[in-house]
Amino acid sequence: MVRLIDENGLRIDGRRPDQLRPIKMEAGVLEKSDGSAYIEVGGTRIYAAVFGPREVHPKHLELPDRAVLNCRYHMASFSVDERKPLGMTRREIELSKVLREALETVVFLEEFPRMMIDVFVEVVQADGGTRTAGITAASLALADAGIPMADMVAATAVGKVDGVIVLDINEAEDKYGQADMPVAMAPRLGSIVLLQLNGMMTTEEIEKGLDMAGNAIKHIQQLQIEALRRRYHIEAGGEEV
Ligand code: UDP
Repeated sequence: MVRLIDENGLRIDGRRPDQLRPIKMEAGVLEKSDGSAYIEVGGTRIYAAVFGPREVHPKHLELPDRAVLNCRYHMASFSVDERKPLGMTRREIELSKVLREALETVVFLEEFPRMMIDVFVEVVQADGGTRTAGITAASLALADAGIPMADMVAATAVGKVDGVIVLDINEAEDKYGQADMPVAMAPRLGSIVLLQLNGMMTTEEIEKGLDMAGNAIKHIQQLQIEALRRRYHIEAGGEEV
């Protein structure tokens, strides 16, 4: 049995239950895409790249009234301890859909009929929370590409370890904990755009977890905004430097 909370109530990486791992974010990190972002959440490291809106290939996939949002979540085979097989696994195909459905809720797709927007999420190092950090990075890359959106989606995962509800679980907590609940929100719209739960939590624990995630997501969105300001040299007050 692995002990995940010590006698002082701290987690294996020394965090308090309601503490995020250190987060770094940068927008516009790749030259060949229309928009891009890099995110570090503890040991998890991810690049996101956005292309478009551009013509749909093959043509028969185009939609008459809106753009197609195409998402690809991929883990580099060197990103995990046990080498992941090359190519797309079932998990990556499923997560590509999960990411698309979260992002589709905010992108004004109807402004670009018959076009396509491609979002690539590349996990280069995984330490838990890759789908949530991937959504945060993808959303920042979409904003960097100038894609109009109703809000910038941000995400984190809460979990239950040794009976305690904790924020932003890492790989060990995901592996040995009792539950894991990834959450993505559009904080300005006040909506949840992704909610999953593996394991068991009571209704009260879910409410507590959502509360914790909600506060953290507002903070993560602030970091996205700061990354965009740095990228476009805009000071906090909105003045261009
Ligand atoms: N993981 C791994 N190999 C895999 C898939 C996942 O080592 O093929 C690790 C990785 O650190 C990942 C964690 O397990 O972040 C939790 O995976 P999960 O499927 O819960 O998704 P995530 O928490 O990354 O969104």
